Amino acid sequence: MYAQDLPYIDSLRFAKDGEIREGHYAIAALPRLAGLLAAPEGELHYRLEGRTELGRPQLCLTVRALLSLDCQRCLQPMHHDLQLHSCVCVARNEAELSRWDAIDLESGGAMVDAVLVEARMSVQDFVEDEVLLGLPVAFSHPEGECPGSLSGFVGLEADFEAH
Ligand SMILES: [Zn+2]
Repeated sequence: MYAQDLPYIDSLRFAKDGEIREGHYAIAALPRLAGLLAAPEGELHYRLEGRTELGRPQLCLTVRALLSLDCQRCLQPMHHDLQLHSCVCVARNEAELSRWDAIDLESGGAMVDAVLVEARMSVQDFVEDEVLLGLPVAFSHPEGECPGSLSGFVGLEADFEAH
């Protein structure tokens, strides 16, 4: 439990040693994520856990964050309660990566995502990458639950005609 604040980890060692790291980032400090949001406010909490599953070292990540987004249907602000859990295998080289893919195909099991080992892996980049992969393609309020949805659409149409 030392060096919690170091920005880099040795990804293979972290996985094999079953290390755990928890922390948080200001969302404003994650530029690629912040760029997608209506407002880059709040914090993202993460827990990164190393483990070995079926002989494969893995990094398992749990993320929780309340994101401010624009609804793509009504363009009003909305909050998305992001809860993410994902595991990726840490492969030592390309050959190991392809061998694992082949095993997954043969067993008919789900393909497990894998990354190549990095002796200096940025925890922050890894967390941000996984969050970006885990985001839904489109954000919107649930169907029919946009605030004042009908007037919103009428307003949009009137706007188009005015131009
Ligand atoms: Zn909406």
